[in-house]
Amino acid sequence: MNQHLRLIAIVAASLSGALVHAETQATPEPSSSAPATLIRNVRIFDGRNEPWSGGEVLIVGDKIAQVSRTPIAPGANTQVIDGGGRLLSPGFIDAHVHMNSVLTPDEMRNVEPAYATALAIKGAEAALLRGFTTQRDTGGNVFGLKQAIDAGVFPGPRVYPSGAAISQTSGHGDSRDLMAPPRFTPGAELSLDERLGESVLADGVPAMLTAVREQLRHGASQIKLLASGGASTEFDPLYVSEFTPEELRAAVDAASSFGTYVTVHSYNPEATRRAIEAGVRCVEHGHLLDEAVLKLMADRGIWLSTNVIVYEKPPAGITPVQQAKFEEVWASTDRMMRTAKKLKVKIGFGTDLVYGLANQARQNREFTLRAKWFTPLEILRQATSGNAELLALSGRRNPYPGKIGVIEPGAYADLLLIDGDPFSDISILEHPEKSLALIMKGGGIYKDSRPAAR
Ligand SMILES: [Zn+2]
Repeated sequence: MNQHLRLIAIVAASLSGALVHAETQATPEPSSSAPATLIRNVRIFDGRNEPWSGGEVLIVGDKIAQVSRTPIAPGANTQVIDGGGRLLSPGFIDAHVHMNSVLTPDEMRNVEPAYATALAIKGAEAALLRGFTTQRDTGGNVFGLKQAIDAGVFPGPRVYPSGAAISQTSGHGDSRDLMAPPRFTPGAELSLDERLGESVLADGVPAMLTAVREQLRHGASQIKLLASGGASTEFDPLYVSEFTPEELRAAVDAASSFGTYVTVHSYNPEATRRAIEAGVRCVEHGHLLDEAVLKLMADRGIWLSTNVIVYEKPPAGITPVQQAKFEEVWASTDRMMRTAKKLKVKIGFGTDLVYGLANQARQNREFTLRAKWFTPLEILRQATSGNAELLALSGRRNPYPGKIGVIEPGAYADLLLIDGDPFSDISILEHPEKSLALIMKGGGIYKDSRPAAR
């Protein structure tokens, strides 16, 4: 079916409350009952435990209604899917993405905003077809993108938006040219990222409170601060601690008033300790952390939302300063991962791929790279139930107040049928076009390449 017809089918189905991909040819259900699907003949990885065989899963509407070790009798209008002995997994969750980063910063300066949005739409669908049924966007104006996906206008993952990443002047989010007039000059220009709502600069407690509240007003499910120097920027070395303790505490206060949490981009130990003392609940990256700070994180249950893939091959076109920072981070990754694992820090699964759809398409290589430190079960837990626990920190701001990342009654029916066994070779997930036979989100089927289904 061509893209246009498929979109119409999805929109029509979602408007009638039954989001079913037209290619599944589900028989229409009576309007009084939600559509039901029974998946049988599968090994079930429930998001937590070793997989077990012979299970059946009944889906009613957008949720899992029943998980059984004995056969479930399908109703007259229940669609039955034969899993063919494949593995059934919860949909994957990526805890660190930038869905709007679809072009390089240089390219971004000379395009119409709608063009970039069109690319982000393509990117959202591509992520879903890589098996990511949920993504936490850790910096970017993705509120409209999320709204359109949720309304069924086009296919994409569930989105937990942070809105603009909040930075101090001369911090990781300060992308102004060096020639830009000082910020205190009346009428000083905003950077392109600030104009687009991708980042916002805030100095001092009142500015921080305003910046946090602006994101919450637009629907941020959590707040993202840039609390240390970063690899991809020119003017903030990795050793810099960004924001004062007072600024960090103000952000945590403003977020907790809305029932949610703050996560910080932070690489170095000093900045990270400062942020934890201020009350943040999650640290992004963390590659330069020492044993003492990782121990503090383990003791306090602070999440480490780290990522590997982006450092294996830094984005093209970066400067020598940025290249050196990427290399420093890459060189520290092995020691940090081993220490974090030893100390039982809660480790999330993120990717942070920026600067274009081709780069974003490397998302699933993160599974393969983590095999250096983790078993397949550990990696799959990180990408499902683990990340779900992390995203649930959004509390009252959680945009999807059902369970994700697990296969159990009451959870959203976000499911993958996997060809091959990732428990013996996790790298098969690097090629989702081959290894994902079926992709379901909220009970709707977005891909079904089982031979019987073609
Ligand atoms: Zn990032």
